[in-house]
Amino acid sequence: MTKFSDLGLGPKVMKAINDVGYDTPTPIQAEAIPYALEGRDVLGIAQTGTGKTAGFTLPMIHKLARGRARARMPRSLVLAPTRELAAQVAENFEQYAKYVKLDMALLIGGVSFKEQDRLIDRGVDVLIATPGRLLDHFERGKLLLTGIEIMVVDEADRMLDMGFIPDIERIFKLTPFTRQTLFFSATMAPEITRITQEFLSNPQRVEVARQATTSENITQKVICFKPENRKVEGKAKRDMLRSLIKQEGDKLTNGIIFCNRKVDVDIVMKSLKKHGHSVGAIHGDLDQRYRMEVLAGFKNNDITLLVASDVAARGLDIPDVTHVFNFDVPIHSEDYVHRIGRTGRAGRKGWAFMMCLPHEQKHLDGIEALVKHEIPRLEMETPKSTRPARKERPKKERAPKPEAAKPAEVKPVEANQAEEKAPKPAQNKQENQNKKPRNPKGQGKAVKGLGDHVPAFLLR
Ligand code: AMP
Repeated sequence: MTKFSDLGLGPKVMKAINDVGYDTPTPIQAEAIPYALEGRDVLGIAQTGTGKTAGFTLPMIHKLARGRARARMPRSLVLAPTRELAAQVAENFEQYAKYVKLDMALLIGGVSFKEQDRLIDRGVDVLIATPGRLLDHFERGKLLLTGIEIMVVDEADRMLDMGFIPDIERIFKLTPFTRQTLFFSATMAPEITRITQEFLSNPQRVEVARQATTSENITQKVICFKPENRKVEGKAKRDMLRSLIKQEGDKLTNGIIFCNRKVDVDIVMKSLKKHGHSVGAIHGDLDQRYRMEVLAGFKNNDITLLVASDVAARGLDIPDVTHVFNFDVPIHSEDYVHRIGRTGRAGRKGWAFMMCLPHEQKHLDGIEALVKHEIPRLEMETPKSTRPARKERPKKERAPKPEAAKPAEVKPVEANQAEEKAPKPAQNKQENQNKKPRNPKGQGKAVKGLGDHVPAFLLR
């Protein structure tokens, strides 16, 4: 087995690794670090949880230890798709570079330009940024990328999902072609392959086994149910979620609840809070400082339940989660693997529950095809929350057609059948994800209900 001491890292980096307490390099580190130290371009096919962050930060620190930063001309650049991921890379850098004098700046949205400008003006060795914010700085004329010696693109597949590829191409073109590039992606979509062919120079490909299967430590269950009335599906799911949380009892130390839509993240979090749970939420529209606070609270165990969207949670290093709840069946099958991979880490036990309504069945089929096994069904009593949320008008005594009210009352089966035959709402993935909340006023209310910690922007 490869040891850290075999990789060619200098004593100061080795000391920091020792302080963090890592015994042996992970496979992606063992493979990528020697090539990165040689100055080769590296194409790493690896996902979160493989130790890839140290796989690129450790050799960068080793190489940057020699040399000096110049004003407004950073020496290295790490691009990450989300603010949290960028912040996480920065945290890693700080840990591993504690015995090496390197100046670092983190350029992410939601933080004032002024402080970031000040750091860049002074000169930084390492710039960690999200693509949009980096280009904002560049366009303001505050930054030159012609001094970049090493450039890292982290989670390129997520960049693709988020529409950042044109930005990445533009950034590549602003850096010198002599730079060394370390490029990481969990998957190699054609668009990603094209970019690597254009901008990487004879890269060494290193790949760690894809996590196409789910861990054996994780007990997975899916609860398929059908609320009587489509209008109360959300409420029925929230009731079911609370039943599951209750049922898990002390086994549940902390958990993440994944929703497909941001609006549901808000609603679920508000609902759990109302029912006395310790809960926080993260999704892309929430203020950066708020997201960081929630995340810190969750990591410190101040918050027990985190309600999250996929994009916001992707790549976040949150150890020791006992439970994952899929409030919705993820539309992209791979997201299921990512989501439940938040639990059952490092040989620990984990539980993953998923709620599935009839219209989500096709996504469940896709997941089962991907993980190559049937997810065991869990029978739970369907919550009784099937009354329409909207208040019905009181019926007038002299209602002319009393039979009109009958079917819904006495023939739930027929009502369901009729529902199935009714034209289906848009089930297109993107459409569903981008769909605006049907009741923007309701959303506003949800936000207000977040409590004192909610920043003012949410109330806009
Ligand atoms: P990453 O895939 O970079 O997000 O890393 C996932 C987790 O693995 C982080 O909590 C790291 O601190 C941890 N980690 C990274 N390298 C090692 C190592 N060699 N041994 C043990 N844990 C590690």
